[in-house]
Amino acid sequence: MRYISTRGEAPILSFEETVMSGLALDGGLYVPEKIPKFTHRDLIELNNCSYAESAFRIMRLFIDDIDDKTLKILIKKSYTRFKSDAIVPLKQIGKNNFLLELFNGPTLAFKDIALQFMGYLIDYFLTKRDEKAVVMGATSGDTGSAAISGFCYCNNLEIFILHPDKMISEIQRRQMTTVKKDNVHNIAIKGNFDDAQAIVKESFKKNCFIKGRRLIAINSINWARILAQIVYYIVSAISVGAPYREISFTVPTGNFGNIFAGYLASKMGLPIKQLVIATNSNNILHRIIEYNDFSINNLVNTIAPAMDIVVSSNFERLLFYAYKKNSNAIKALFNKFNKKNSTIIDEKPLSKLRNIFYSTSVNDKMILSVIRKIYKRNGVIVDPHTAIGLIAAERCNTYPGIPMISLATAHPAKFYETVLKAGIEIYLPSSIKELLKKEERYCILPANLKKVHNYMFSVL
Ligand SMILES: *Cc1c(COP(=O)(O)O)cnc(C)c1O
Repeated sequence: MRYISTRGEAPILSFEETVMSGLALDGGLYVPEKIPKFTHRDLIELNNCSYAESAFRIMRLFIDDIDDKTLKILIKKSYTRFKSDAIVPLKQIGKNNFLLELFNGPTLAFKDIALQFMGYLIDYFLTKRDEKAVVMGATSGDTGSAAISGFCYCNNLEIFILHPDKMISEIQRRQMTTVKKDNVHNIAIKGNFDDAQAIVKESFKKNCFIKGRRLIAINSINWARILAQIVYYIVSAISVGAPYREISFTVPTGNFGNIFAGYLASKMGLPIKQLVIATNSNNILHRIIEYNDFSINNLVNTIAPAMDIVVSSNFERLLFYAYKKNSNAIKALFNKFNKKNSTIIDEKPLSKLRNIFYSTSVNDKMILSVIRKIYKRNGVIVDPHTAIGLIAAERCNTYPGIPMISLATAHPAKFYETVLKAGIEIYLPSSIKELLKKEERYCILPANLKKVHNYMFSVL
């Protein structure tokens, strides 16, 4: 499988090169040249497969530069640290309503599903190339811990994660700073998330190498992350009757990586009726789908912080398909957007998107009230991100006869302070309680590129 850029001016790459490079040189994002198809029979056969076996059968269609045996081993290792044998248990919460629990990985958020795999994948490529590399990323919460957990067993990697000092929750910080591995380096930046992010972006601009080691980005534009997420759409849909019946999904959405994987599953042949984009008050995606208003608003800090974004990077990948792979149109659209902070989508591609995508935006007050309501009705405690999805599923579900699967993206204990605000006291899993006792390791640095680089040089 070859990978092409959405803007059409970057070199065509293999799977390996795509995973190792991140953003395309022309500013676009890499997508597969063709989307492989799954027949009904291929889908039905997955009924007899474990999660890892299903993942192998789905992902190998996009990967032709790793042999089957190796790929199987990489996938198997990726899902050994999940608390449930189902990996992604599906819970029924109403006649045709289901909750897909994606939070059984080591850091209790759905990002584990992709980042555990990405760690083993990149380590494999580095070993093969006899290379060492440096992972660098900024986090406002969940990504950092999932990346550290996914990469800390990699022999060929050093990991530097920047977080804004005193601006993330204690649990989120401790999930990163209590990992006792010599290749893990946490840096608290005296500033906000944007300051930390700016340092990372600047580092990638300046050079892609540090002390002769390749810099690797872990943000959600990496193709490997999208790929690993396709799997649970297919696996869960099949367990409620696909491909014999249509299925809908609702996805708490920030950078559009998770729900884009659902779109790819539908392009592969999974009969998906609706994909509901659930946003918090940072609602650019909802404004696009509903009003064709593709413009930047100021960032709002919400109680669902993993979805606090101004622009959703992966939406460009979707537009590429909506515009029938016309990279010139995508380039023109984003040139205008980058100049004016605003653009519009042509009617035809937009109406195509509206055939499958629905959207809504949910404010903080609604989130708290729905956490209470779901607990009362089902005895199920959900985290604030998942709550947004459940409201959206209710608002946007126009086909009551079709099963609606809402994606639960984080364990409620991860956001227990917010859940408490909703009036529900939560039992903390032992893995979280232990975190509160463990010794932390991190350094605090000013929001200064040079100081951060000096530190990185000193430990490498
Ligand atoms: C990252 C994250 C999201 C948003 O996912 P995207 O792929 O960025 O749309 C939603 N919920 C939780 C808990 C997350 O960590």
